[in-house]
Order: sequence, then structure tokens, then C-alpha cells
Amino acid sequence: MIPQEKGKILIVDDEKDLVEMLAYQLNRRGYQTLKAFDGVEAWEKIESEKPDLLILDLMMPNLDGWELCRLIRRSQNRTLRAIAILMLTARATQEDKIYGLEIGADDYLVKPFSLNELVLRVEKMMEKQRSMTQLQEEIKHLQSSMEAKEFNLKQVAHDLKSPLISIGFSAKRMLRRESNEEASKALQTIFDNSLQLTQWIDETLLAHPSSESNRQEDRKEVEVNALILQTIDLLKEMASEKGINVVFHATPPHFKLSLHEPLMHRVLMNLLSNALKYTPRGGKVEITLKYYFSKRGTGVMEIAVSDNGIGIPEDEIERIFEPYYRGKNISNEEGKGTGLSFVKKVIDMHGGRILVQSEINKGSTFSILLPIKNAPTEATGKVDSKEVSLLKQ
Ligand code: ADP
Repeated sequence: MIPQEKGKILIVDDEKDLVEMLAYQLNRRGYQTLKAFDGVEAWEKIESEKPDLLILDLMMPNLDGWELCRLIRRSQNRTLRAIAILMLTARATQEDKIYGLEIGADDYLVKPFSLNELVLRVEKMMEKQRSMTQLQEEIKHLQSSMEAKEFNLKQVAHDLKSPLISIGFSAKRMLRRESNEEASKALQTIFDNSLQLTQWIDETLLAHPSSESNRQEDRKEVEVNALILQTIDLLKEMASEKGINVVFHATPPHFKLSLHEPLMHRVLMNLLSNALKYTPRGGKVEITLKYYFSKRGTGVMEIAVSDNGIGIPEDEIERIFEPYYRGKNISNEEGKGTGLSFVKKVIDMHGGRILVQSEINKGSTFSILLPIKNAPTEATGKVDSKEVSLLKQ
């Protein structure tokens, strides 16, 4: 038995004798061969067998070679589009050749042809196919190892943030009690640098909302309840340094939502750190998680971050979502004016909305509304507003 691992070739011609002869010759040389005697039969075999190479006659009944070639090159299926095509024809004008190559043939042979020449061309084309496949596999391998490295890097960046914030705010707490000038300077440096490093991690290492991060495969089912608790935990030092009480209310039942987790985590970090930043000492910040369901099985998840801080002037509420815009109310609070524009981009990317209510010296509420496409059946139609979790700093 002849080994047939050299590749799969489909021979398409309405001249039966020619097809049989070519199949025999190519078989002898170790290729697996398939036969089709018109364009329609060929298309069926192309779809079901996915050959590596097609020897294609142009003049055929039903679907001719030109049409078949176009169908293959326009196919949605990447494997079909990659099939190598050797056109065989009795037509020999220069225009025919150019046209054939233009619509996607890889090579062209005019009938009558020598068998040796055909075999040589087939071999060359199959060699090219093999190296293309090898290249593609290498690219795939490289991509997945890059993705794994990126994932690890993000994980490390994420894990670094929590202790860094903690170091910074512990230094700030000690600073308030420190009378020695030299020690105060050192503590201030620790605080400034830890904040700078946290910002640098956010800007360079963690995810950004882009067309790339909008891919469905980057989303996963996320427990929003847990994500909020994680955010509060990361910022608890900042809250306790300012003596701000952070309260969390969540409405059951808790279920998962398909989200880009790292981006949503940063959204929550931005909103909560703003609330803490723009609320005076001893203030209060509240986070509320609620679900609203319709009878049709869809719904909305609302995450609201409220503070009793300085508030936002009415004429600035629209502008605060612009990149680099900082309000008149900031006094000497540090910031770059990029937090809310990031929040808006991520919420838009998830098909959601963000609403703001604010009153000067009374406080602000930022509400994120995210669509729920398939509500769990037991939750449909239910709105339970019971407070289930309270977190005090
Ligand atoms: P940054 O806080 O770095 O200035 P942001 O994009 O996060 O930038 O916010 C834009 C502006 O919105 C802030 O400069 C501030 O004027 C206003 N702002 C945001 N959150 C609050 C809040 N909770 N209370 C009062 N003002 C806020």
C-alpha cells in the first residue's frame, strides 16, 4: 500500500479519462485523491473533504471553474479559502491566464500538458501549502504563549497593586502622627511613590478599553458582588486614612454577568477612589448593587456609588467624562482627569450607561446600568431590595 500522507488533492474535470489518469498518477506518488466531474459535485466535496489542493478544469457544466474559484476565495471558512488551486484549461490567451490568477488561482496549466510538468507543479504547490500550514501553526503557538505571558503579567500587576496601596496609606496614617521632620519627609516619599507606582501599573500594565478588548472571548461570567467586595478591600486603607465609612448593599439573588473583568474592576476602582477622594474626612460612601428584571427574561444591573462629598457643579456634569477634564471643585486633590473617560468607554463597550446625580456640598451618585440579556429563570420578574451585606471600615 502506498503511503498517502503527502496531502489531499481534488481533481475536477468533466473529462472522466483525464480525471482517472491524474488520480492514478498522483496516487502512485503518495497523494490521496478525490474526484469530481462537475462544479457542483466539486463544491460539495470541497466543503466536506477540505482538500489541500484543487486541480480545476475551467470549462464544465453547471458551475464552471471560474465560478467555483470565486466561491472558494470568498468563502467564510478560512480553511477553504486557503486551498491551493491549479487551473487546467484548453483556453490559452494571456488574458485568460491573468484573469484566472486574479480571481484566486495559484497556478495555471494549458491543455494539452505534460504529466511531468503537472506533477512538478503539484509538488511545488503542496510544498508551499505545507510550509504555510507550518507557519500558521507556529503563529498560533506564539500567539497563545504571548497571551499566557500577558495574562501572567497582568495577574502580577494586579497582585502588586493591593500591597502598594496599603503601604502608601499606612505611611500617610503614620505621617499624620509624626512630628520629626526627617521621618515625615520619608513617609511622604513612601506615600507619593506608592501612589505613582499604582498609577503606572494602571496605565501601562493593566487592560485598556480598545477594539481588541471588546472581543467576546475576553469576557467571562463574573460575580459582580465579589468584584465590588474586592474593590472595597483594595481601597480600604484609603478609606480608613480619611475616616470614611464605606457601606455596601447588595440585592439578591446574585448571579454572574458576562463582563471584561479586568476593565470592570478598574471602573469600580475609579468610581470608588473618586468618591473617597472628593469626600471630606469622616464622610460616607455607599455602593449599591441592584437588579431589575422584565417578564421577558431580560434585565438591568445597577451599580451605584454614592458619596456625601463636595458635589459637582451642574454645568460640569457633561464635561467630566471628557478625557483630561478636571472639575473646578477639585481643590488640591491629585488626578489626571482620565478616570471617568475610561469608565465611560468601558461601560459603552459593555452596552451599558452611566448616570450622574450631584448636588454641591451634598454629594454625588454615579450609577452604572448594565444590560442583562438572559436573566436566570428564578430571578425573572423579582425585585428584592433587602440589604444583604454591610461592610464597615
Ligand atoms: P480626576 O479625578 O483625576 O480629576 P476623573 O476623570 O476621575 O479625573 O474625574 C473628572 C472630574 O469629575 C474630577 O476632576 C472631578 O471634578 C469630578 N468628579 C469625579 N468624581 C467625583 C465625585 N465623586 N465627587 C465630586 N466630583 C467628582
